[in-house]
Amino acid sequence: MIRRRTLLTAAPSLALGMGLLGRGALAAPAALTSDTTLMPRTGKGPRIVICGGGWGGLSSARHLRDQLPDAEVIVLERNPIFWSCPMSNKWLIDVVDTAFLTHDMLAPANNHGYRLVQCEVTGFERDKKIVRTSKGNVDYDFLILAGGIRNAYDAWFGDDHEAAEYTRTHFPSAYIANAEHLKLKNMLRDFKGGTIVMTLPPPPHRCPPSPYERACVMAWHFKVNNIPAKILILDPKPGIAPISAGYRAAFEELYPDIITHVPNARVRELDPWNKRIMTEAGDFDFDEAVIMPPHQASEMLFHADLIGKDENGNPTGWADMDQRLFHANADDSVYIVGDSMGAISPHFGHYPKSAHVANYIAKIVARNIGQRVRDEEVVAELPDNLCYMLVNGDPREAISVEFTYEVGADGLVHQNQIDIDVRTPDLLEEDFVWVNGMFDDFLR
Ligand SMILES: Cc1cc2nc3c(=O)[nH]c(=O)nc-3n(C[C@H](O)[C@H](O)[C@H](O)COP(=O)(O)OP(=O)(O)OC[C@H]3O[C@@H](n4cnc5c(N)ncnc54)[C@H](O)[C@@H]3O)c2cc1C
Repeated sequence: MIRRRTLLTAAPSLALGMGLLGRGALAAPAALTSDTTLMPRTGKGPRIVICGGGWGGLSSARHLRDQLPDAEVIVLERNPIFWSCPMSNKWLIDVVDTAFLTHDMLAPANNHGYRLVQCEVTGFERDKKIVRTSKGNVDYDFLILAGGIRNAYDAWFGDDHEAAEYTRTHFPSAYIANAEHLKLKNMLRDFKGGTIVMTLPPPPHRCPPSPYERACVMAWHFKVNNIPAKILILDPKPGIAPISAGYRAAFEELYPDIITHVPNARVRELDPWNKRIMTEAGDFDFDEAVIMPPHQASEMLFHADLIGKDENGNPTGWADMDQRLFHANADDSVYIVGDSMGAISPHFGHYPKSAHVANYIAKIVARNIGQRVRDEEVVAELPDNLCYMLVNGDPREAISVEFTYEVGADGLVHQNQIDIDVRTPDLLEEDFVWVNGMFDDFLR
């Protein structure tokens, strides 16, 4: 356990008197209008600005208000509605409906007393503690970056934006909460037969077990509707991971004629117009595809100049941050929550990029900021992780993986992984208990 005493140095209020937003209300389009306009401060506590209102951002906002009832908490989010990626694979085959995934973000903002501004975060002036947005600038005492991931098509296509955009719009990854999920579901509904390739990003990436779950639910749909489809999972890893035995059993026992898992299939080249993909495990033609490019931290981390470097001085693509206290190494007024986080330990690399971890870290960071504001010792805490993955549509059966963490004798964080490989309906029930508990925690 690390304990540290830190004093909050309150930034002078930079408010210039325009653009007051109602608590919890979405901004009127012109509420914040220019580069020089700053949101006036309200309240007597510190101002904490959260960039990104997904799992990590909204969890941070809710728990910060509990920790610091006097704090002014502002969430900056581009989307008008919350869309849950967890359960979205199940939604592809109608285990849940759209109303289950989508949530009003105004209700929790109003219920817990934070402000929600619908805008694009465009940049940072960290020396002045200012966030730039499409609706003007906002100053802060503490900043939380919770922007999730970016799809790094540039790792494949370089400056060829046309190829990247063609790939994104025709073969969407549907790994970020946006309209790509609808396009994927329509593709599944309309597919009449042929070969679908699914590329997995190289690790680390968002929700490692979920691409295999997606392959299973798609295969189940093809099986029950007698659609002559093949799914090729092009996996850059040498084997299925995590829950390898559970997934292998599902592929072999439930979908032997549909799913083929291809290991060591790192993408070398992709020709989206001619529907051809070249990998280290061979070249493949396809009729349809779910193309997941490499993942990196959200653009915000790049704009904030907080991306780490590896031993050769190359950008890691993920946050450069304190592994136990989750603030940026270069700036301890900036915290990173959720999938943008950098590596935690040489023993296992990153915490799983999951909604569970994003929610857990948000609570820890809220407590740590509360401790700093109250001038208490800052207590380093460890998360855990839990994921349930549906592999069969009838009967509905899931498998699962759990991770726990502890600090070892070497002072580093160690990971313990428990795969639950035997598929059962009970695990799907547990998944619903988990997700409803999460929604209760930060969306109601
Ligand atoms: C198919 C699928 C299934 C999954 N299943 C599970 C599961 O069962 N269990 C689990 O624990 N995890 C699961 N996950 C992973 C989970 O969705 C992510 O780990 C989680 O969303 C990470 O939270 P986050 O806050 O870091 O990012 P997000 O939830 O993506 O939130 C980031 C937010 O930032 C906003 N944003 C980004 N840039 C800007 C900007 N410049 N300006 C304004 N707003 C911006 C985005 O709009 C978004 O709302 C799944 C993911 C997928 C894709």
